[in-house]
Amino acid sequence: MAQTTELVKVVVVGGSFAGIATIQTLLSSIKSGHKNIQIILIEKRDARHHPIGSFRALVDAEFAKRVWVPYTNLFPKDSQHKIIQDTVTQVHHDHVVLASGQIVAFNYLALCTGSDNPAPAKFTVDSSKESMAITSKAREDLQKSKSVVVVGGGACGVELAGEIKNAFPDKKVTLIHSSQTLVDYPGYSSVLKAGALTHLRDLGVDVVLGFRAQIEGLDFQNSIQVASRTIVTPDGKTIESDIQFLSVGIRVNTSYISTLKPANNPSFDSSTLTHADSHQIKVQKTLQVIGFDNIFAAGDCADYSKVPTAAASGSIAPTIANNIIALEVAKSKRKGKPAKLSNPGWMPSVMLLATGPETGVTAMPLIGTKFSNSISKALKSKDLMIGMTNSSMNWK
Ligand SMILES: Cc1cc2nc3c(=O)[nH]c(=O)nc-3n(C[C@H](O)[C@H](O)[C@H](O)COP(=O)(O)OP(=O)(O)OC[C@H]3O[C@@H](n4cnc5c(N)ncnc54)[C@H](O)[C@@H]3O)c2cc1C
Repeated sequence: MAQTTELVKVVVVGGSFAGIATIQTLLSSIKSGHKNIQIILIEKRDARHHPIGSFRALVDAEFAKRVWVPYTNLFPKDSQHKIIQDTVTQVHHDHVVLASGQIVAFNYLALCTGSDNPAPAKFTVDSSKESMAITSKAREDLQKSKSVVVVGGGACGVELAGEIKNAFPDKKVTLIHSSQTLVDYPGYSSVLKAGALTHLRDLGVDVVLGFRAQIEGLDFQNSIQVASRTIVTPDGKTIESDIQFLSVGIRVNTSYISTLKPANNPSFDSSTLTHADSHQIKVQKTLQVIGFDNIFAAGDCADYSKVPTAAASGSIAPTIANNIIALEVAKSKRKGKPAKLSNPGWMPSVMLLATGPETGVTAMPLIGTKFSNSISKALKSKDLMIGMTNSSMNWK
């Protein structure tokens, strides 16, 4: 597809941790001289969701107002950059196709489309108003309930159970997890995993391990259920609840990739671009999608992140911007010589589990796993990093 302008068009799909980090790094490069770059953000939502704050938003109506941040101030006023609110449905080697039918050409593409978790962690509806309504309804139902079951003891399940128990200490909260260890991700210490369990039990959450609860009708799409239920574990324990939350499963957003083929190879099998199990896009260490020099991917949707975190997404994605600039510099100044591309630096395995504004468990390199509430509060629990997201969006 022919370019109609001399601007180098960089299309970023997805305006969250990875997409915004890519854009901020590009904006810095533009400021320092690379003026001919136009950034086009394509984002399906009308505002940026800050998922780290989702469970505080569930229990605190005031906090809920803060977890949707407008895109209004992202780009400087009157700049050549633009935001298109639409969903990318197809990716081709030099253009993307949107749900509206619009075609957007690019010189470079950054795929930062992340992942979905069951509501109220993330949302499958796109409008912020509808998403907020889901959270408000769940809050009302939660307030009326006496006993709560959370299914799934990953980081989300631990935080959800903790936030609920912290906000409603009189409610009976039970966390049911299929394996014997909470937050059982690779690369994290057993001290953290055991610590999460002790911490939740100290808060008063009843944690049931080694039991895969199957609750009829509770699934990814219907992840909040208001029903009076009695669950009996294999060893005869009875768990009563009148509201249930599913906190299991992560789905990466990469279905658009099935149309991507090299320009000269129409018979190319696009299914080789993603992993069959995780559906994450396969990228090189330069974050280029395998076989495509001008297409990059980072964040939860790409396989560079072994554990999907905002910390990893935000720290890796600037490499996309740096490599786009390196490719442009090579084109203009060092004809014939390959660009000097970089790889993301070392990515620390950081895990901060917040279980209320004052409490949490922290695992970080150098300081190790800490159960000090003051450390958790300072690093995450107090405002759930909403300030960091606001500042990346130039929002006060
Ligand atoms: C409750 C909760 C708490 C968490 N706490 C932490 C924490 O404390 N620390 C941490 O590091 N991580 C945390 N995480 C994980 C973190 O939120 C994710 O790893 C992070 O959101 C991934 O960022 P991303 O930019 O890759 O994608 P996402 O944040 O998933 O964003 C993807 C963006 O792309 C858009 N999009 C998707 N598909 C399309 C399309 N086809 N067209 C246009 N736009 C599209 C979406 O609307 C969205 O804006 C938490 C997650 C949850 C759910």
